Amino acid sequence: MPLQQTMRYESERDRAFADWVESITGGENVKGCIQCGLCSATCPLSIYMDYTPRRLVNLARAGFKDEVLSSFTIWLCASCYACRAECPKQIKVTDIMYALKRRAIREGSYPRRFPIPILAKEFSRMIRGFGRTPETFLVADLFLRTNWLRFLDMIGLGLNLLRTGRMSFVPESIQGRDQLRRILDSVDGESAKEERAVKEAA
Ligand code: SF4
Ligand code: SF4
Repeated sequence: MPLQQTMRYESERDRAFADWVESITGGENVKGCIQCGLCSATCPLSIYMDYTPRRLVNLARAGFKDEVLSSFTIWLCASCYACRAECPKQIKVTDIMYALKRRAIREGSYPRRFPIPILAKEFSRMIRGFGRTPETFLVADLFLRTNWLRFLDMIGLGLNLLRTGRMSFVPESIQGRDQLRRILDSVDGESAKEERAVKEAA
């Protein structure tokens, strides 16, 4: 993916977003980033990213919400924690990436047809519904939403897996799904509350 070199303007900044970045777990010290680039140098995936971790941290703390939430970078992050271990200012880049992913999914601002956010979204939807991730539905959903021609290619393999009992159209589920949903609702509620508090304070 090519690096983005577009010029940014002050008027494009979203200050509420910058405040939110500072308020999330891991973002407490983000203003102290000295742009040394150690995170980018240690990141094994930065060469594939549209914004290196250093640039992403800079854009996020400055409030360039659209660039950050629609970037490929947050989805390519493999959560290896190398950047966090090396950062001289103890900035928790990995945790910031996680929070940005959650927000991008909530706002639907992730790159269209890019499989990773779609997989993450479907994974959490299925956990909420069944307490498990039925592979048949997960894989079918993923291909249909990202590349349905590839889905046609995979039909033969899928039928073989169904015939040999490696996949099934009957979704497995857990007991106590209501309890699980209540737990997930409470986590979502907490995040929404935190976000409201930041917006009101802005
Ligand atoms: S290593 Fe830390 S201080 Fe250096 S650019 Fe990355 S986040 Fe900023
Ligand atoms: S946690 Fe993500 S951003 Fe940090 S070094 Fe690993 S892959 Fe790169």
